[in-house]
Amino acid sequence: MAEKHYSIAIDGPSGAGKSTLAQAVARELGLVYVDTGAIYRSVGYYAYQKGVDPRDQQAVAALLPEIHIEITYGEDGLQHMLLNGTDVTREIRLPEISMYASHVSAIPAVRAFLLDMQREMARSHSVIMDGRDIGTVVLPDADVKIFLTAAPEDRARRRFLELEQRGTPQEYDQLLAEIKQRDYNDAHRASSPLRQAEDALLLDTTGNTFEQSLALLLKTIREKL
Ligand code: C5P
Repeated sequence: MAEKHYSIAIDGPSGAGKSTLAQAVARELGLVYVDTGAIYRSVGYYAYQKGVDPRDQQAVAALLPEIHIEITYGEDGLQHMLLNGTDVTREIRLPEISMYASHVSAIPAVRAFLLDMQREMARSHSVIMDGRDIGTVVLPDADVKIFLTAAPEDRARRRFLELEQRGTPQEYDQLLAEIKQRDYNDAHRASSPLRQAEDALLLDTTGNTFEQSLALLLKTIREKL
């Protein structure tokens, strides 16, 4: 008999702490962590490399047949993105790629192109998957659905610290403006907008430390499973 896989969907706006928290939950519960933002970032990065305007739906759609994306897991256990065979895990985190990802992700052809790949990950593994439409579109039957959010100022502050640590600092005000712009783009696009699934539990991490948020998340997941 096929092994039963279970899935946890974590959705929410940029910078709510989804990826760090989901990674920690994956380690704790022995799940595969899938960061779907990295997949959209890989498409955004390809458009960037090709000099294509990420808002030009037709031009971006025309690139899709040239794009082959793979998710692999390194010896460090971390998710790596392969774009046409090249590891682009670092490049897709460049600040300018965030807005490319945000724009290309609004294109229905891009979302359709990436849907199967995300579902296949959940068919073949027990996963904790984070994104914007995991509980609503990608895995509507997920065993646990969480909508993770925090005030924009909190999220901008976290991004500020993260970028500073990574050695690529950016102005706080600019980060806050970008976060608000991406929130707006994600929530107002016609195709799979960011919204809380009806059966998702809302977790607001404003003012929490990482440990507090992790404890809350694990408690919520354990209660549901
Ligand atoms: O999560 P992250 O900020 O890396 O995602 C980059 C962009 O990809 C987001 O701004 C969002 O527009 C898009 N995205 C999406 N659906 C997902 C994951 C990410 O539209 N499931």
